[in-house]
Amino acid sequence: MKLERRHSLSIKLLQLVLMWAVLVGLVLSCAQILYDLRKERILIDSTATQILAMSRDPATQAVYSLDREMAMQVVEGLFEHQAVRFASIGHPEETPLAIRTRPLADSPYRDLTDWLLGVEQQYSIELYGRSPQNEYYGDLRLTLDTAPYGREFLQRSLIILVSGVLRALAMAFVLYLVYHVLLTKPLSRIIEHIAQINPDQPGKMLIPMLPGQERNELGVWINKANQLLDSIERNSSRRREAEANLLHMAQHDHLTGLPNRSMLQEQLTRILGDAGRRQRGVAVLCCGLDDFKEVNEQFTYQSGDTLLVAVADRLRANSGRLGSLARLGGDQFALVQTGVNEPYEAAELAQTILDDLEEPFALGGHMVSLRATIGITLFPDDGENAEKLLQKAEQTMMLAKARSRNRYQFYIASLDTEMRVRRELDKDLRGALARNELHLVYQPQISYHNQQVVGVEALLRWEHPERGLVPPDLFIPLAEQNGCIINIGEWVLDQACQQLRTWHDAGFADLRMAVNLSTVQLHHSELSKVVTNLMQRYQLPSYSLELEVTETGLMDDIAAAAGHLNSLKKAGVLIAIDDFGTGYSSLSYLRGLPLDKIKIDKSFVQDVLLDKDDATIVRAIIQLGRSLNMQVIAEGVETVEQEAYVVSEGCDEGQGYYYSRPLSAPVFADWLRSYQGKTQLSSRHLS
Ligand code: C2E
Ligand code: MG
Ligand code: MG
Repeated sequence: MKLERRHSLSIKLLQLVLMWAVLVGLVLSCAQILYDLRKERILIDSTATQILAMSRDPATQAVYSLDREMAMQVVEGLFEHQAVRFASIGHPEETPLAIRTRPLADSPYRDLTDWLLGVEQQYSIELYGRSPQNEYYGDLRLTLDTAPYGREFLQRSLIILVSGVLRALAMAFVLYLVYHVLLTKPLSRIIEHIAQINPDQPGKMLIPMLPGQERNELGVWINKANQLLDSIERNSSRRREAEANLLHMAQHDHLTGLPNRSMLQEQLTRILGDAGRRQRGVAVLCCGLDDFKEVNEQFTYQSGDTLLVAVADRLRANSGRLGSLARLGGDQFALVQTGVNEPYEAAELAQTILDDLEEPFALGGHMVSLRATIGITLFPDDGENAEKLLQKAEQTMMLAKARSRNRYQFYIASLDTEMRVRRELDKDLRGALARNELHLVYQPQISYHNQQVVGVEALLRWEHPERGLVPPDLFIPLAEQNGCIINIGEWVLDQACQQLRTWHDAGFADLRMAVNLSTVQLHHSELSKVVTNLMQRYQLPSYSLELEVTETGLMDDIAAAAGHLNSLKKAGVLIAIDDFGTGYSSLSYLRGLPLDKIKIDKSFVQDVLLDKDDATIVRAIIQLGRSLNMQVIAEGVETVEQEAYVVSEGCDEGQGYYYSRPLSAPVFADWLRSYQGKTQLSSRHLS
């Protein structure tokens, strides 16, 4: 709060002191003036007495000898004095011997001085002869005009008044300054400082001691105030601590220190709000330990508690992936996983937890391995609020426990089956290569410049012993996640290179082999060495091998991708960008990468005649390829019309069911021979 200047103490003091000083100054001056007035009157009287005394003898002489001339001289002598207005010598009953008058002196202050001193003052002395007769001769009379005395008196009074008031003013001002410097200013500084003190933490910013004020009342005040602030701070921090402890106790489980159910609800609600805004998924996992009761019975309840604490610690190890971890009570825990894009991510976490808990715990000299059952609900599909998601996750867990234990179960049954299939596939995939379940099929690529088969794309197939053919779109992401894509990818490269060698030897010497690379493979440091070795081993000519990378793989880390692609180029392979148009391509990054070919994604090619936008995209991609000096191949060409469109736009090559489906190696060789036969025939026809 800013202090108004007129309310300042020193200004108030100044006003007060000024008023009193002026008042006192005036009163004192007036007293002095009155005193002076009295003195002035006495002065007039004594002057008159003196004059009369001096003229007594000559006047007596003159009146005694009835010497008019002499009397006149005496009177003239008296008139030397400015103030003398009337003088006479003579017997009162006779005509005066000598007499003279003067008009009243002219003065602007006349009225005032007449009022103070009277208009004039009359004096007389009686003139007597010598003793012993002492005969009375007459009087010497004198009248003094008071104006000359009055003028002087007024001048002095003015000086007294003015100097009195000035003295009072000066005193008041000095007092004001002293007060201001000693009190108001230091007080203002203290007020300024107090205004900056944070009321929640008053002890953090104590009032600094003002220099020179250490020992006076201000210094003592500051010290006392600081002590007060300090103790307020101490008390309030103790209170805060106590409140925090109370809150912690109310929101946490005392045994494991994990949040309890009510805190979990709160956290989950916040997480869901956030996820809703960002359109991200959340998984709620409710984990119940199997047969925990038996542990309690077999050991002691204390051991049971120790085990629960150890379980909480194991669960905490996953907290990097968790938005929240809580103990619901008894042997039940809840985990909230954020940023869940796919249900399998929740399944993976659940499996990790089940595996973690199976690792034996040391309990009083025994090793105890725990099993658990986990119920999983997903936001937003299974419920839109914390309560529903938790409730359903708990129900799911209970139901799963009733059926079979040590597993996780999704709330949605179909999802649950899908996750289970994924898990099994994931497990099976790890051994697929060793069990010889993988093979390659080949799909031709036709040049639109001469209608020849110029290339072939190797596509991976997995023949599952029970499930039959598993589509690559399903198992390749699994292989990427579990890491076996590196081995599988190397196997694919080896197979494709070997097959190309065979076909080159069989007379299709110009054939080029396109192999798909996973992002994981692309960023694997050994890749260019593997490729170089294969090219040497199968003596493949430069540029007979083409590696297909996807946009998303490149975009993840462009700098790293550029480095890997450059070293691959040095190994003498061509690089194609697959499924172009489906990612976030931008011209600027395309220019910076050593790409030879663009593969237009089949989704655009297939709708090219139905959807104007797709037609525009296809045209734009072809033009882009041209301008960047890259080859362009259309994927998924299924009809003659689609072929006609891409050819008319200037596409270089095509691939799709219109020419052939992906074929096994022997079938492809037969197909190629018959295709070559057909094209030779038609070209002969044309010529
Ligand atoms: P991709 O590289 O874009 O392969 C083209 C896909 O389009 C192939 O599917 C192919 O069979 C299909 N296709 C070709 N012509 C037509 C057509 O005219 N119409 C339609 N509807 N489809 C056509 P496939 O074999 O199921 O492969 C799917 C994806 O799996 C591939 O897409 C590729 O990304 C990936 N993939 C396949 N083999 C491998 C491999 O050895 N390694 C890696 N990393 N990925 C592979
Ligand atoms: Mg491909
Ligand atoms: Mg493709």
